[in-house]
Amino acid sequence: MYPISQQNRNELLRELLLHCTKHPLTKKRLAGIPLSELHQPDSHKLLQQVIPKHSECHHKFTKLIKQNTSSIMFSTSGSTGKEKYIALSFEEMLENTRHHGFAYQAAGITRSDRVATFGMPSLLTSELTVHLALANTGCQILPIGQATCGATIFRLISELHANVLLVMPSDLHSLLDYMEEEKYCLPQIRLIVTGGEKLQQSLKRRIMQLCGNAQLKLSSTFQTADTGTIGYQCRYCVDNEYHIQEKLQYAEILASGELVITNLKRRQMPVLRILTGDQAIWSGTPCLCGDQTAKILLKGRAAQNTKIGGEKIPIDFFDRLMESFSLHPHQFAVHIVTHDSGRDQICLKIHDRYRSQFRKIQAWLLNHNSLLREKIAVHLVEPYKIDILQAHDLKRTKSGKFITIQDNRP
Ligand SMILES: [Zn+2]
Repeated sequence: MYPISQQNRNELLRELLLHCTKHPLTKKRLAGIPLSELHQPDSHKLLQQVIPKHSECHHKFTKLIKQNTSSIMFSTSGSTGKEKYIALSFEEMLENTRHHGFAYQAAGITRSDRVATFGMPSLLTSELTVHLALANTGCQILPIGQATCGATIFRLISELHANVLLVMPSDLHSLLDYMEEEKYCLPQIRLIVTGGEKLQQSLKRRIMQLCGNAQLKLSSTFQTADTGTIGYQCRYCVDNEYHIQEKLQYAEILASGELVITNLKRRQMPVLRILTGDQAIWSGTPCLCGDQTAKILLKGRAAQNTKIGGEKIPIDFFDRLMESFSLHPHQFAVHIVTHDSGRDQICLKIHDRYRSQFRKIQAWLLNHNSLLREKIAVHLVEPYKIDILQAHDLKRTKSGKFITIQDNRP
């Protein structure tokens, strides 16, 4: 895709800022900027004065959503499982799907492919945009409509001759478990396109082992329900590297390393300097594919802290634990609980098949978070506890993502 010209981008930013001064959701954020300045030719620079923030929760929007008749609503539940509603005009949705469709083409989907998708459109998923975006590739869409019964998914993929899967990583586990158990493979699958979540290295290895096609390609698209489609991968992009959809999004990386997105086209619910929660760095350009749009490399989620033993503790080390022991999200959960003693305790629930590694995992935990180790040593936090995972220990968001870290304290 051609990069957007600077002049065009600045003009779009200026229009957006002017719109945002009148919009009930954003006008407060621009209150400090005199309107006269926004009419100056270089007023796009004023964007830098808008303080970045996380997208709003839905309570504040209920009134606004009621007023909008010609629109479609989605919700995002993110990692917390709490719905946030987003209303898009139909034009905004179609604009997004056009770019999203381009991302699917860049990922390698062509008009001769039969693409199986797992989710079904609903208020709680953005699957409708997935289907509309796929239409841009000219492929055949096979909406399987569920991700929980591996046997049914396998049968449908085989019967309908799907050769591409378009899935959220969390949705692959039932299929892969079934294939492992039955010793089946799917060598006809030539491409798997993921989105919605980061694809863990361990899951990637599992896919390659089980599918039985050494030529299988994996690619992904990068989007959030809050901001729309953000990035696409060309064939030269490495894992977690994306070209920016510059005609739709203005991306910035803050000094803290967090990616911030401003959507150039959304007016109904403006996306103005929204924190994505992702850490990123700018990646080398120009790309070997010849596309001159900027590229980013995602480095993981922005630091997640949880108060344990009275102090904020970074908890992203559980991701590293999962990678180190090839634990998949459907085999692992972390419950933060209040022990009978009144102190906080971290209980790890791990699938029975890892039982022989529990001691090693204990040792790993003590070696990889010195703050928690010290708190355990001075009895401010109870020692780690490891239990066999039971089905009820797993929790998923309404869109199907596993919630690995569950805070069960009162
Ligand atoms: Zn490229």
